[in-house]
Amino acid sequence: MSDFSPIVRRHARQVWIDHVPVGSDAPVVVQSMTNTDTADIVATTAQIVTLAQAGSELVRITVNTAEAAAAVPQIRQRLDDLGCNVPLVGDFHFNGERLLRDSPACAQALAKYRINPGNVGKGVKGDEKFAYMIRAAVEYGKAVRIGVNWGSLDQALSTRLMDENTRLAQPLSAEAVMREVLILSALDSAEKAIALGLSPDKIILSCKVSHVQDLIAVYRDLARRCDFPLHLGLTEAGMGSKGIVASSAALAVLLQEGIGDTIRISLTPEPGAPREKEVIVAQELLQTMGLRAFTPLVTACPGCGRTTSTFFQELAARIQSYLRAQMPIWRQDYPGVETLNVAVMGCVVNGPGESKLADIGISLPGTGEIPVCPVYVNGEKTVTLKGDAIADEFQAIVENYVRTHYAEGGLKRRKTFVLTPL
Ligand code: SF4
Repeated sequence: MSDFSPIVRRHARQVWIDHVPVGSDAPVVVQSMTNTDTADIVATTAQIVTLAQAGSELVRITVNTAEAAAAVPQIRQRLDDLGCNVPLVGDFHFNGERLLRDSPACAQALAKYRINPGNVGKGVKGDEKFAYMIRAAVEYGKAVRIGVNWGSLDQALSTRLMDENTRLAQPLSAEAVMREVLILSALDSAEKAIALGLSPDKIILSCKVSHVQDLIAVYRDLARRCDFPLHLGLTEAGMGSKGIVASSAALAVLLQEGIGDTIRISLTPEPGAPREKEVIVAQELLQTMGLRAFTPLVTACPGCGRTTSTFFQELAARIQSYLRAQMPIWRQDYPGVETLNVAVMGCVVNGPGESKLADIGISLPGTGEIPVCPVYVNGEKTVTLKGDAIADEFQAIVENYVRTHYAEGGLKRRKTFVLTPL
């Protein structure tokens, strides 16, 4: 009988972003980013609340103008008034030092500053701007993510390493040199920040690229060369299934190797699609890998020639939406409910088996079967549903199960999600 390798997390330093721990033995943290104009206080506050309610534990916002910087403390105040305590990360490029200098309230309201060394500036001037931002982080007691990006590399460092490479007897490939530029830019910047007085326990690093194999190679190397917590993300992942697949492929490999302390799925939303999709994908990635649990998941079969209608697909979608919608309340009232597993299956071939393995399962009738739906609870068949109210009745069974098993004194209240060893 084969066994699987447990995930052994790389042991990074611990950095606190307000009340959220990152690194060390803290769970991998889910991040997201708004796409509203930060100067639009109402829209940005609303989107942050939506992302936080979906489960984003850190939310990054663009801080690119004086108006955006002025809006940040007001957004923070509104969030606090609404009872939303999600830490805000300010995304600075080009003019961060000026915005932090001119808006101390912004500098104070943010929990973390994201600094891109490639976009701070060149030469002595760039060093001064970088130093100003780091000193602001020290003065206000904030964490910093040094976030290097393939699309905005430090050009001076890039030119120097390329020149050095051409003088080697056996030069590396251009891609390998560029990966080294990314890593060195992050590590050098972290060293500079420490020399300027920033505690190593306030630093998170990221080196984002847009290709899966490059990302894996860069982070494996980066993880070997430092003990800072690492933020993972495939930048410019793209739209729809391509963005989800590419991000999941890259991040899953690294997470399986214990690399990564925060993650973001950088999806390009389809027009009109909800921004929180990136949060849900990040959660589902962590949950399906067994790293964390956020929301009860529905196990559903794909359907095939044995299914005669879309009813079971509709039921699976309805139950998953229902479970996700309940979570803001259930998370408080029913601890442990995020580990609940519900099965919705299309016929007798695998339906009863999968339903018995789930906490609650329903096996719908396929072609030629008697039109009845046996329901299994904790592996035992408890009732057979039929008629027009199957969806309502099954949802009521799920709701009752949650109430009786996860409420205070309930049967599963103390059930905890078993993390793989750290
Ligand atoms: S459980 Fe039945 S309906 Fe679903 S995929 Fe398998 S054979 Fe097809």
